[in-house]
Amino acid sequence: MKQIVFITVAAMTACSFMPLQSQTTAPVRKIEQVDFSHVKIHDSFWSPRLDRHTTATLPVCIDQIENKTGRMRNFENAAKHEGKHSGIYFDDSDVYKALEGIAYSLVNHPDAALEKKADEWIDKFAAAQQPDGYINTYFTLTGLDQRWTDMGKHEMYCAGHMIEAGVAYYKATGKRKLLDVCIRMADHMMNTFGPGKRHWVPGHEEIELALVKLYGVTNNQKYLDFADWLLNERGHGYGKMGYIPGFTSAYYQDSIPVKQLNSISGHAVRSMYLYCGMSDVAVLKKDEGYTKALDKLWDDVVYRNMYITGGIGSSGDNEGFTVDYDLPNLEAYCETCASVGMVLWNQRMNEMTGDAKYVDVLERSMYNGALAGISLAGDRFFYVNPLESKGDHHREAWYGCACCPSQISRFLPSIGNYIYGTSSNALWVNLYIGNKTEIPAGSAKMNVSMETGYPWNGNVKLSLDNVLPTMKELRMRIPGWCKSYQFKVNGKSVKPSIEKGYAVLKNRWKSGDVIELNLNMPVEVVAADPHVKQDLGKRAIQRGPLVYCMEETDNKSAFDSMTLSPATKFTSAFNPSLLDGVETIKAVTGAETINFIPYYAWDNREAGKMKVWIDYGK
Ligand SMILES: [Zn+2]
Repeated sequence: MKQIVFITVAAMTACSFMPLQSQTTAPVRKIEQVDFSHVKIHDSFWSPRLDRHTTATLPVCIDQIENKTGRMRNFENAAKHEGKHSGIYFDDSDVYKALEGIAYSLVNHPDAALEKKADEWIDKFAAAQQPDGYINTYFTLTGLDQRWTDMGKHEMYCAGHMIEAGVAYYKATGKRKLLDVCIRMADHMMNTFGPGKRHWVPGHEEIELALVKLYGVTNNQKYLDFADWLLNERGHGYGKMGYIPGFTSAYYQDSIPVKQLNSISGHAVRSMYLYCGMSDVAVLKKDEGYTKALDKLWDDVVYRNMYITGGIGSSGDNEGFTVDYDLPNLEAYCETCASVGMVLWNQRMNEMTGDAKYVDVLERSMYNGALAGISLAGDRFFYVNPLESKGDHHREAWYGCACCPSQISRFLPSIGNYIYGTSSNALWVNLYIGNKTEIPAGSAKMNVSMETGYPWNGNVKLSLDNVLPTMKELRMRIPGWCKSYQFKVNGKSVKPSIEKGYAVLKNRWKSGDVIELNLNMPVEVVAADPHVKQDLGKRAIQRGPLVYCMEETDNKSAFDSMTLSPATKFTSAFNPSLLDGVETIKAVTGAETINFIPYYAWDNREAGKMKVWIDYGK
């Protein structure tokens, strides 16, 4: 019944019947993200990681793409229509994702040599584009007659990553050569598929959110409409992919129309990209059908299918989901890309709702599931992020399927995206990362700077300058893990009210105002939902946003038999010489001591066993 009401109202809205429109709960963006290009990060935890992204991670990606694998040669061969394709049919996407990471890095640290490298790559992409706009090195080199015949061959997935890179590079440099390649490919796809043309269900989502980005820079509504059309192609039997025997349409989110989805299934990364696309289109089309489904999907993901690390997708068989509450630790899949996907999706949900619960999940996935995906040195990567290891699971320099290294490479330099948001009368603070930021507002700008010891302590100092006259409220997120905190404004204690996880500080804000927040960060002992049979009789350790683990190298005497109990006493201390500086935790039970380190930092020393969930005795 509700759905019928909705359809009627939506139709009226389309006819500009305004009185009824106000009765809907059409999704809007309540918070506008402050783009990372305005955010300069100066942070003892993140700045060294961003430096290593430039000095280690990007060089690894470039070397793999140009020299150690045939990824760039595929573009060179496709331009000449000669030679063989090497690697996997979707390898082009890794090149685009690495370029997107380069574009973001150029925003943070302009680098003429790196920009020249990017321009060379873009020349090669442009040369590999067919006269009708099509670009995909696999089909160009194996037979263009076979293109657009198998929805599982990721042609639109690769195109989507190219569009994300093209938009990023255009924004970073103002150069539009790649953007024009993207527009020609998008137009080629729209000449082939769409209303009155061929049906198509992309086997791996990504194009949908990318088309929305293309709409964002071109202001051409047709790209948004095409994203909407592609989303609604799903679930009607149009998708035909025979390349993975035994997999059902749920694997690629094609079993029912997306607006009827109420539980996550199939491939985890595909699901995350789908939900991002649904969120984007929901807001721009004011389409409540998407958000109603997204609300149900979020509950299903977070309450029944998410690990404590914010990782999702428990099974390697389908790189995704099995049944609710099935969260094995040793066999956990938790692809790095899926944790990054959780960040991307939850950020969009936060923008639509103004609810901090989405940032709690974003932060959990970012500091644990995603950050574990890269070594401290920035040059080795996890694809799979289990919560337990027998000592045989290690980061690798690269992967045959290299989605995760290129994913983390585009994610890290853009983390500034997740710190601030704005609305008509408020500044929203979501993450605590040291920075200096200039927030544009029309012809004016406001300056904000933040100093913090996060994630090792919860001390935050926020200073305001050039305060906008419209800013009446400062909304600072109180993380879900935090049970007690104190605020001071200009040195005086205040007790703000809390709305949807945000402390709402109302004031006549002026330049020079200083807001101090102290988030108390004790060691927490966490039990899983009792439906999770793999964690029965176990506990995990968390402190602030970080999940902890025990590694064999710190616990050699009796790794397998160590237990926690109600009598265990916990202490924590910062060790600047361990793992680039980490707060370690000691758990003392009688004569036994367990040493914990942050989960993200594991497997950076000698190989050995690891576990997050520890036996808990009486
Ligand atoms: Zn991946």
